[in-house]
Amino acid sequence: MTNHGTESMFHNNDYQLPQLTLLDDIHTTDLTEACMLKGHYRRTGRYIGEVTTALFRGLAAGATLEFMHNCDGWSVPIECVRHGLAKTEADLADEGRAMSDVVERDKDESITVELERMAVAYADRFAERFAECELIGTELPIRCEFESEVFPTPISFASHVDLMFRDVSNVFGRGANALHVWDWKWREKAPTLDYLARNQQFAAYYYGVEDGVVRLVNDTWVSFGEHPVISWVHLGYLMPFGRKTTTKDDDGQVVTFLKGECRPERVIVRTPNFKPDAKPVFLRHLTDRAAMIALGIFPPNPDPIGCSLCESREECDRYDDTYSQEIGDDEEQ
Ligand code: SF4
Repeated sequence: MTNHGTESMFHNNDYQLPQLTLLDDIHTTDLTEACMLKGHYRRTGRYIGEVTTALFRGLAAGATLEFMHNCDGWSVPIECVRHGLAKTEADLADEGRAMSDVVERDKDESITVELERMAVAYADRFAERFAECELIGTELPIRCEFESEVFPTPISFASHVDLMFRDVSNVFGRGANALHVWDWKWREKAPTLDYLARNQQFAAYYYGVEDGVVRLVNDTWVSFGEHPVISWVHLGYLMPFGRKTTTKDDDGQVVTFLKGECRPERVIVRTPNFKPDAKPVFLRHLTDRAAMIALGIFPPNPDPIGCSLCESREECDRYDDTYSQEIGDDEEQ
């Protein structure tokens, strides 16, 4: 039986909620952070702020692809990486954020090599198709006021979408003139569709683009009034297979790919088929998160690896007195 989320304590008529006030916007991390305590520390500025390799690479990849789309850099991907790296370093300097020693050591060598391989593969795979699409913009601010039963005023969601475009000629196969939102991710683990089907960030984009407004490059806020097709673009999988692998190709046939062959697109561009009528379920989930924030409920969700990398771990209560010396020093255990 389909679970429509009616079991939430915040929607149980027997539970009397106090009057809730949400002072801030809800951001993407509020919807996706597995540890709500970590999210609370971030909201209140209690985190180290040092830029790790994963964060730096993700930021530089985004800046590289933004340049490729906005400046028509499809034939010069290496140049796009150069701009992406320079912009990322300048932005971090403006924000006063320090890079870790590992980033300082690797950014001009192994990180640059990875970015160049990614940018070349992205251009090879998508340049022809994007030439037929209408670019709406990159890193576009989005805002939406979501009505909720338990707040006197709407929940204000604010975020940015990495890439928005219109597929005029249906080159991506989701329908002519379909509005697309791509979220560029560079993570170790690729997401399953079971996960993406419940991804609240993507749901917020899906319902938010229809109900809310997006700020275009000319600074005008525009209401699209339609649901976009949302895709997780797994940048790490733009690189070829590192070993012989048997999996389904894009036609659903089981195929053995050799080391060095390109991966099928279905594992790179991952698109959950969201549906308009699931909006009440999303609103319940959004309300739960927002109510917990308003009530000051931030349960810790310790993670076997994540806690040793957590930027707020020095703030976070613990049950022992065996302090490790530096971030990541438990990795060899
Ligand atoms: S150290 Fe672990 S439990 Fe504490 S805030 Fe970070 S992720 Fe959450």
